[in-house]
Amino acid sequence: MPLVAGNWKMHKTAAEAVRFINELRQRPLPPDVEVAVCPPFTALTEAARALAGSSIRLGAQDMHWEAQGAFTGEISPTMLLAAGCHYVILGHSERRQLFGETDAAVARKIRAAFAHGLIPMLCVGERLDEREAGRTDQIVTDQTEAAVAELSAEQIRRLVIAYEPVWAIGTGRSATADEANRVIGVIRRGLERFRDASVHTRILYGGSVTPENAAEFFGQAEIDGALVGGASLDAAKFMAIVKAASKDVT
Ligand code: PEP
Repeated sequence: MPLVAGNWKMHKTAAEAVRFINELRQRPLPPDVEVAVCPPFTALTEAARALAGSSIRLGAQDMHWEAQGAFTGEISPTMLLAAGCHYVILGHSERRQLFGETDAAVARKIRAAFAHGLIPMLCVGERLDEREAGRTDQIVTDQTEAAVAELSAEQIRRLVIAYEPVWAIGTGRSATADEANRVIGVIRRGLERFRDASVHTRILYGGSVTPENAAEFFGQAEIDGALVGGASLDAAKFMAIVKAASKDVT
């Protein structure tokens, strides 16, 4: 089933999150698309309460790898689980670029997420200078391999990957659907070589997805959904993207 997940980044208070979720819940969800929202930490508990009885999943945007300890400002996997999270976004390019998150740290977080029963959404993607230097395929393959190196085949199957070219995030400049499909194919073949596990691994596209361009991405053979930033903050736009992922025409 395709997955459409909203990454709210540093937007919405708890009260705003509840209002948004209530608005979302008034709209019929297509039965053949999985939907997730990823609010900031401070809105997770209220969001989980507002989502009770709904099929919409809750995700967080980052976490520490330890269950507890002296890590001021950090949030642990057990805390996310207790708050009602199913997913956790890990290795988002904003965390890599603005907060110095390394492949090694991302790999550690991914293992911790699985160990505690969360499903990680691993983000990979090249910067513009890397794309212009013809290094896209190498970068996404290296980032993926670093993250999955110590995972079992079963964990790789349950993992969600989001291919998010850094130059397409929040810029209004998306990759073409063809190119996103090609790079996601490269990631999948890399997984296949690595651990014969790729067939079931969902790989999403992310980067300036809108109601206008979503259907083009979802029409591609390799693309299993979308991680949506800006457009996920507006219930009508987010639902239009969710609907574009559905094959259900009724
Ligand atoms: C993101 O940050 O994960 C993202 C895809 O952002 P946007 O849709 O705003 O480009």
